[in-house]
Amino acid sequence: MALGLGCSAKPGRAKENRTGSWRTFRPEFLHEKCTKCGLCSLVCPEGCIGEDAEGQPVPDYDYCKGCGLCAEECPSQAIEMKKEEK
Ligand code: SF4
Ligand code: SF4
Repeated sequence: MALGLGCSAKPGRAKENRTGSWRTFRPEFLHEKCTKCGLCSLVCPEGCIGEDAEGQPVPDYDYCKGCGLCAEECPSQAIEMKKEEK
């Protein structure tokens, strides 16, 4: 197989690549602390944080890779990273 310059694998969109299988930590959203500011959704590199009917953020764990960026950036400390249990 011919490889493109600087590329060792075929590119793929997150929709096709279920990045959730990489995860060693998972974000847990503490709705009682959440102010629904939407920042976590904006910074998520997988674009996998949606919201429920009440406007609370809800991650799609099929695509969440556990990077922790949402928890790092949440101004309300409303997201805790917990060790994934397989
Ligand atoms: S960044 Fe934090 S406070 Fe803002 S919507 Fe996400 S979980 Fe809620
Ligand atoms: S841990 Fe990373 S991939 Fe998962 S929801 Fe948060 S920002 Fe998105």
